[in-house]
Amino acid sequence: MSICASGDKYCSYIAFDAYKYFCNHTGDTFKKKEIEVHYCDLSDDNVFGWCERVDDNSWLIHIHNALGYEEHFRTLFHEYMHVIQDIYGLKDEGLREHQAYQIEGIMYKEMCGSLQTVH
Ligand SMILES: [Zn+2]
Repeated sequence: MSICASGDKYCSYIAFDAYKYFCNHTGDTFKKKEIEVHYCDLSDDNVFGWCERVDDNSWLIHIHNALGYEEHFRTLFHEYMHVIQDIYGLKDEGLREHQAYQIEGIMYKEMCGSLQTVH
């Protein structure tokens, strides 16, 4: 597993959790990549997060540092999905966003469902 998160403890914890969950639902290709999650104030950018490819094997993800629980997980899943799309070379912006929005919703619902069964 290869993720590094900078930010407060709570944020890093969520980033790791979302990463682990995402890894369990995707192939080994994703696990082998290096991802750094960086928390900062993105209010001016008007987005919850964005993702940039650093080189063939590493990505830098920026996440807004004041997200609610659900938004936080959904944004992470969304950005992780963009990493997968980069790996597979999906370039169409419209399709990328459509897919990422779908996945964030599905993953979040599934994750909540799986947490409930633990109780
Ligand atoms: Zn997106």
